[in-house]
Amino acid sequence: MNQKRANAVLGGGCWLRLGRRRLDTVIDLSGLGLEEIREETGAVVIGAMATLRQLEQDERLQAAFGCYFQDCTAHIVGVQFRNCATVGGSVRARFGFSDLVTALLPLGCTVLLYRGGEMPLEEYLTMGYDRDLLLGVRVPLDGIASAAYESARNSETDLPVLTCAAARRPEGFFLAVGARPGRAMLLKGREETALIEKAAALPFGSNLRAGADYRRHLARVLARRALKRLKEAEA
Ligand SMILES: Cc1cc2nc3c(=O)[nH]c(=O)nc-3n(C[C@H](O)[C@H](O)[C@H](O)COP(=O)(O)OP(=O)(O)OC[C@H]3O[C@@H](n4cnc5c(N)ncnc54)[C@H](O)[C@@H]3O)c2cc1C
Repeated sequence: MNQKRANAVLGGGCWLRLGRRRLDTVIDLSGLGLEEIREETGAVVIGAMATLRQLEQDERLQAAFGCYFQDCTAHIVGVQFRNCATVGGSVRARFGFSDLVTALLPLGCTVLLYRGGEMPLEEYLTMGYDRDLLLGVRVPLDGIASAAYESARNSETDLPVLTCAAARRPEGFFLAVGARPGRAMLLKGREETALIEKAAALPFGSNLRAGADYRRHLARVLARRALKRLKEAEA
């Protein structure tokens, strides 16, 4: 059904309803068990129909990552909204401003696609839109020493001006910067100061929320804060 251009999969419907597209059929994925967040060996698998609110409240994610998933969801509109918006809709849409996509990137997550199988989120972000179904996201638990999330907004629940997420893994520091306003990009390095400079050297653009220069300035500030919080979390 999803191969027809006039049809669309329905996540929470929060974004879909804002569009002007006329849809013949919306495809409801509820009833497939995709709303579950379940633990597998060395990973947590978040089903595509899990809501942002479930993510915020999940005890396994809190035990593994502390307040990380609360920090990246808390400013998204409000609780009623987060009870509707889904992880699948958010990841599939790959919005540049997505708090969730930025937060998932440095953790080394993979996406689970019905046809495409499992692929790194980083690779999925480079792809164009297709008609595949997103079934979920696998979040690895092993080897992530700490993670911290930061965002800047002009007002509390507005879309972010810049998002930044950091994680320390055995290979070094991983830093994602989103809302540039383009899609989030992932940086890797072993040395914090060099990584902060790399963040400031990313391509930034302007939109109604902020100019490119201000975003570049914020990238340094948020990257430094997030990397500092990693140390605090590990201490
Ligand atoms: C007013 C408003 C403010 C927002 N503010 C923020 C913010 O500050 N930060 C932030 O990160 N996000 C924000 N968002 C985005 C929001 O968090 C969700 O990402 C967005 O609503 C999409 O999730 P959904 O479940 O509503 O998806 P839907 O609107 O249902 O779907 C979005 C798209 O994904 C497709 N789709 C959905 N599920 C699947 C699936 N499983 N497989 C394949 N395709 C699928 C749909 O067909 C559609 O094209 C905001 C959204 C709105 C409307």
